[in-house]
Amino acid sequence: MASDLDALRRDLARLIGSEGVLEPHAYEAYAHDATIQRGLRGTPDAVVCPADARSVARVLAWCYDHDVALVPRGGGTGLAGGAVPVGGGVVCSLERLNRILEIEPQLWRMSVQAGVLTAHVHRLARENGLMFAPDPGAAEQSQIGGNIATNAAGPHAFKYGPTGGFVSGLEVVLAPGEITNLGAKVSKDVAGYDLRGLLVGSEGTLGVVTAAHLRLLPAPTQTEAVAVVLEGVEQGQRLLLELIGSGIRPAVLEFLDEAALSAAARSFPGELGAEARFMLLLELDGTGEELARESAELRDLLKDAAPLGLLQPNPSALWRWRAGLNGAIAAQRGGKVSEDISVPVEHLARAIEGVHRIGSEHGLATCTFGHAGDGVLHATFMVDLQDEQETSRALAAAQAALRLAITLEGSVTGEHGCGWVKRTQLAQQLGPAALAAHWLIKDSLDPKGLLNPGKKLLQRPG
Ligand SMILES: Cc1cc2nc3c(=O)[nH]c(=O)nc-3n(C[C@H](O)[C@H](O)[C@H](O)COP(=O)(O)OP(=O)(O)OC[C@H]3O[C@@H](n4cnc5c(N)ncnc54)[C@H](O)[C@@H]3O)c2cc1C
Repeated sequence: MASDLDALRRDLARLIGSEGVLEPHAYEAYAHDATIQRGLRGTPDAVVCPADARSVARVLAWCYDHDVALVPRGGGTGLAGGAVPVGGGVVCSLERLNRILEIEPQLWRMSVQAGVLTAHVHRLARENGLMFAPDPGAAEQSQIGGNIATNAAGPHAFKYGPTGGFVSGLEVVLAPGEITNLGAKVSKDVAGYDLRGLLVGSEGTLGVVTAAHLRLLPAPTQTEAVAVVLEGVEQGQRLLLELIGSGIRPAVLEFLDEAALSAAARSFPGELGAEARFMLLLELDGTGEELARESAELRDLLKDAAPLGLLQPNPSALWRWRAGLNGAIAAQRGGKVSEDISVPVEHLARAIEGVHRIGSEHGLATCTFGHAGDGVLHATFMVDLQDEQETSRALAAAQAALRLAITLEGSVTGEHGCGWVKRTQLAQQLGPAALAAHWLIKDSLDPKGLLNPGKKLLQRPG
């Protein structure tokens, strides 16, 4: 077998140069993604880091000729195991496709290769007075290609939407190894089917993204952060709906329930108060004039809602605290099992209460927090991951939380994708016709089923 794998590496090196084919001692970093905290790990048969789209196309063509799976990989920050080579295959890391192809600040556009880090795009946009709004939490490690493949979101998605809305065109390698352009720089193009949209969120199962034309926005000149302390979930739900109905459009609208608050209370940059049971975190943004108007409207609305407190901590301290929340929660018992379910926003309170009910039925410490405005909640069970029984109860509770999301007309994943972790879930969420349509698309674009097999889609309709 070892000699087969040596031969595989030699073949790949002939195609793309030996500098693009890693030696086995370097595989460990490519064997897992952020789901390693759950213990998910794969075994690559080979790892390639092609230098350009043509090399990606050659590798995919070789895989198609030899019936070998190809697993596209971005920054490996995925929380669904999408980039993990669970069934072996050639891991195709896009890290060397890291060039900025063009920046056109006057036209609010940037074209980049797929392996450019998300944070690099943020910085370049900012330096040019612009904004790339999608802000998934691991932006210093994730890549634009990975963000596109997962349609990543983040806190600012409430006002600005997820990554797909910022992509006007893609360069992709489709099976059996064709470099193809889907869309371009134009803002509107309704000539063909929306194949660009189809690739967005496809988690490496339909093609490999090698470059993207990105849309940017003028950066807001001012922001204001507000933390609203409330007496409980019901009051939080009422205020959330009033806020949305009022027309005030915060850029960020997050929530934390009582257990999430208590896990991170000590480091909160302000006076929380012992009676805090729920929190909404908002960021308003815009020009000075827009901000003053929205801020006044918000205060009017809050007068009627009678929260326990209205805090205005230093914005960067507040968002740093929010960014550290995952760590503070995991620290409670040493680890956590968490699912990114989403529900229609009017069902948020029912989802929070349902997740806590599930947690207590399984004897688990539980909390929820997330992107309130988008109805995305991280259903989180805090566990000692060394304790096998507790971990298996948490995994069962996570399955129940996914079923709850479907019952509440929601989705099993609002942000992270199905990947490997939720590969059986799409069949639960979709009706038979929608599932059959998914398979028609998969079979058309990947007839041999070699692009990231076993991810996203598992069961065929019965
Ligand atoms: C601390 C932390 C916070 C996070 N916060 C958020 C958040 O707020 N919002 C959010 O949406 N996500 C969040 N995530 C999840 C993760 O960062 C996103 O899913 C991100 O978009 C993954 O990008 P990546 O480059 O790391 O992709 P990877 O993990 O490498 O891959 C993810 C999937 O995309 C595929 N893929 C990667 N690159 C390509 C490509 N070029 N072409 C085709 N397919 C490709 C892979 O096969 C895999 O299926 C968070 C993760 C962590 C660890």
